Amino acid sequence: MPENIVIVGAGQAAAQAVDTLRRSGFTGRLSLIGEEPWLPYQRPPLSKKYLAGGIERERLLLRPAQFYASHNVDVRLGRRVEEILRREQRVRLDDGSTLPYDALLLATGCRARRLEVPGAELEGVCVLRSIADVERIRSQIVRGGRLVVVGGGYIGLEAAATACELGLQVVVLELAGRVMSRVVSPSVSAFYQAQHEGHGARIVCNAKVRALEPSGAGSRVGRVVTEDGAHYAADLVLSGVGVQPADELARAAGLVCENGIRVDDHCRTSDPMIFAAGDCSNHPNAHYGRRLRLESVDNAIEQAASAALNMIGIDTVHDKVPWFWSDQYDLKLIIIGLGDGNDSLVLRGDPAAAAFSVCYLRDGELRAIETVNRPQDQMAARRLIAARAHPDVRRLADPSVPLKALC
Ligand SMILES: Cc1cc2nc3c(=O)[nH]c(=O)nc-3n(C[C@H](O)[C@H](O)[C@H](O)COP(=O)(O)OP(=O)(O)OC[C@H]3O[C@@H](n4cnc5c(N)ncnc54)[C@H](O)[C@@H]3O)c2cc1C
Repeated sequence: MPENIVIVGAGQAAAQAVDTLRRSGFTGRLSLIGEEPWLPYQRPPLSKKYLAGGIERERLLLRPAQFYASHNVDVRLGRRVEEILRREQRVRLDDGSTLPYDALLLATGCRARRLEVPGAELEGVCVLRSIADVERIRSQIVRGGRLVVVGGGYIGLEAAATACELGLQVVVLELAGRVMSRVVSPSVSAFYQAQHEGHGARIVCNAKVRALEPSGAGSRVGRVVTEDGAHYAADLVLSGVGVQPADELARAAGLVCENGIRVDDHCRTSDPMIFAAGDCSNHPNAHYGRRLRLESVDNAIEQAASAALNMIGIDTVHDKVPWFWSDQYDLKLIIIGLGDGNDSLVLRGDPAAAAFSVCYLRDGELRAIETVNRPQDQMAARRLIAARAHPDVRRLADPSVPLKALC
């Protein structure tokens, strides 16, 4: 059993690791270091209720301050780990101090990718990853103002939905031919595009941003120009063009990184004393037979729990079917599994009724499901996919047959 455990990053994965370590009997010194000034908090409400001003900051916290005190955690916030000194098994913080570790967990998450076009540095061009980002955006929102969202992925669309509800005029510019193209089927993309348009947003696909231009001679953004010469007036621009794994510490320390920090199925990096979990990690997935880097709450929780157990010598293989959700307007999208490589799609339910699922099959095996407003499909879908079930396609397509009847 190690005596000193240090967790770098104070987000979703870190909070879970603290909980699992203490619940599983780790009584040694436990340090949690986060560069943001807040205790670990949930990010999903950032693009939804928190952006809308519907909840207080305190409600975002995953655990109250009392939890860390009663679990004897040395919490250092507003502090960045600048270096991992692997030979000495210490980390160096931005105040020059160092902390020893016997086991180190990197739970550093992702950073929002910035737009790389002329004008990206203008005032009024924002990203959405942290509490500070949302507070910056909120301070610039004016009812009736014009928001251009660059990127029709789930974060851009969630923010667009919230902005429409706040009374902004919203345009979403998407590079691909359809929204959320990386994560959902064409029918779900089409459904979401229609829903956004029905709420007053304008969605423009195949739109490549060329430049952001100031309004007049000022330093504030005034319009977004695309490669085809079209331009979109903007008081505020939200860049939702994806994220990059925060793997710079690991890289500098010589750990193997490729699209995130490479770990094995025990969440261990190329240094046996160092583990990684959550958005920053690139890990093997036995079910799909390939490596994944996932950006989801479920993955952060499950992987952090596995990493924590392995750090204290409880052998745990991390092997889960991934799942993810996104809330836009009153629609709950849940994606279970990975649908790429499918050879057929089965529609379950009616998109016109705003409650349906799309099932992905390969050689008859259920590989993934996207459900819209059908939460009842979720648990059974997870079981069916994990069991590599070959459901009867006619019954699968019949929404009156509960999925659990196919288990
Ligand atoms: C706006 C938004 C909406 C989302 N909505 C959903 C959703 O609906 N459903 C879903 O499943 N997922 C959603 N996600 C994704 C989910 O929040 C992430 O997958 C999850 O937070 C990942 O947890 P993590 O601990 O890996 O990283 P994070 O929660 O990002 O935490 C990492 C922390 O490490 C800190 N850090 C990095 N480097 C250092 C360093 N050197 N020293 C100290 N600290 C450091 C970072 O500042 C950060 O605070 C959303 C994310 C965002 C941004």
